[in-house]
Amino acid sequence: MEKLIITVAPTGSVPTKKMTPHVPITPDEIIHTAMACEAAGASVIHIHARNTEDQSPSTEFSVFEEIYNGVKEKTNLIIQISTGGRAGTAYEVRNERLILKPEMASLTTGSINFPNSVYENSPQLIKALARDMQRLNIKPEMEIFDTGMINNALSLVANGFVDPPLHFDFVLGLKGALPATIANLVHLKNTIPPDSTWTVAGIGPAQLPMNTHAILMGGHVRVGLEDNIYFSKGELATNERLVERVAGLAKIFGREVANPDEAREIMHL
Ligand code: ZN
Repeated sequence: MEKLIITVAPTGSVPTKKMTPHVPITPDEIIHTAMACEAAGASVIHIHARNTEDQSPSTEFSVFEEIYNGVKEKTNLIIQISTGGRAGTAYEVRNERLILKPEMASLTTGSINFPNSVYENSPQLIKALARDMQRLNIKPEMEIFDTGMINNALSLVANGFVDPPLHFDFVLGLKGALPATIANLVHLKNTIPPDSTWTVAGIGPAQLPMNTHAILMGGHVRVGLEDNIYFSKGELATNERLVERVAGLAKIFGREVANPDEAREIMHL
């Protein structure tokens, strides 16, 4: 089986220091987390920025730049910048950070309801972001919250906005989106083109079981406090411990863990 790519999503838009002291918020904290997670077995880091004053999601270019430069200097990790919209939904604030030319960026190919808001990704916005990524030679990670979003990703290919092979991230277990079940995971895997690579992010208590199934099914995994702040029931996690646990599971199941350069090869970067 292909070596396992572990993506760490250390920060996201939601967890605050009040929820867990272990969530990295400042650029410096995120850079240190990146180093620890690389040592633990991660090969990709999915990056969000925060405003240091109130920990709210940030769209500030300078904050993304500081994180990007620091992670690039201190690690060999593949940097995947989020173009997610919790911090601001307009195209202009979501595409600006792409001029940093990270190797990857996330691209959500549809809209869903988050628990208290609409996560809006219009066809025009998706196309515009995809075209920017293509122009800047950034590989999109298709963020799939519902099965129909796969069709939208495929139509981007059909219309020449994205070059195959595709890389997908199945985000399962978020209230308002597709539930984290084995049946859903198998269905998603069987729906994408066979030459694609895929990873799975389970939300909250779904993280560990979804990661485990992906290891066994030949997929890849995403862990981190963006999706889940607990190591076990009632026990808070650190990002590096979550990465370490997945690397340990892979070993138990006889799957080797990819280093960043091997991950680059697997995802055709
Ligand atoms: Zn994210």
